[in-house]
Amino acid sequence: MAGAGKSLQGARIVLLGPPGAGKGTQGQVLCQRLGVPAISTGDMLREAVADGSELGNKVQGIMASGALVDDATMADVVRDRLAKPDAGRGYLLDGYPRTLPQAETLAGILRDAGQELDAVLLVDVPEDELVRRALLRGRADDKEEVIRERLRVYREKTAPLIGYYRERGLLREIDGNRPIEEVTAQMAGLFGTGPEGD
Ligand code: ADP
Repeated sequence: MAGAGKSLQGARIVLLGPPGAGKGTQGQVLCQRLGVPAISTGDMLREAVADGSELGNKVQGIMASGALVDDATMADVVRDRLAKPDAGRGYLLDGYPRTLPQAETLAGILRDAGQELDAVLLVDVPEDELVRRALLRGRADDKEEVIRERLRVYREKTAPLIGYYRERGLLREIDGNRPIEEVTAQMAGLFGTGPEGD
């Protein structure tokens, strides 16, 4: 298992945290250092919507309302993506799992492949700050009601994953309510990827 200072080249890591905590920003930095692809289910779904694919048409309204896409649909999306060759080097999963059934699906995918997660990184930020950041971001699903709804869904459906992964000894916590470089530095220390420019 991943401990402080241990190198995680080729690691399989889940990024967990409320919408707007900075998972995407931190994920980009971390995956570059670890040499693994960042896999964001939110980005994948937004691409599907932009392409007007069958999946995109199915999820467009759900995403716009701040609700979650159903677990069965997400299982197909994630199973296909993790079967691609680049995921063989490991990956940083951002936005999945988001529910306990999704965590069980991921556990099953890993089990079938004879693999394990190395760590689950929780990036946490207080709710008021999350709303402030989301309003600044101005994405299509970033209206205040939708932001509040995404946070409510996070508390209800996703936050239970914190305990789930803590019990399994995988949880690493990061305070996301600080300047980006400080968050990055804490994360680098946690994963032993060395200082900036390493
Ligand atoms: P944020 O970064 O704001 O948390 P994401 O970009 O990860 O949001 O996801 C945007 C939307 O895509 C979610 O609000 C949800 O509707 C849908 N989505 C993304 N990942 C999942 C998932 N694992 N399960 C269900 N819905 C998802």
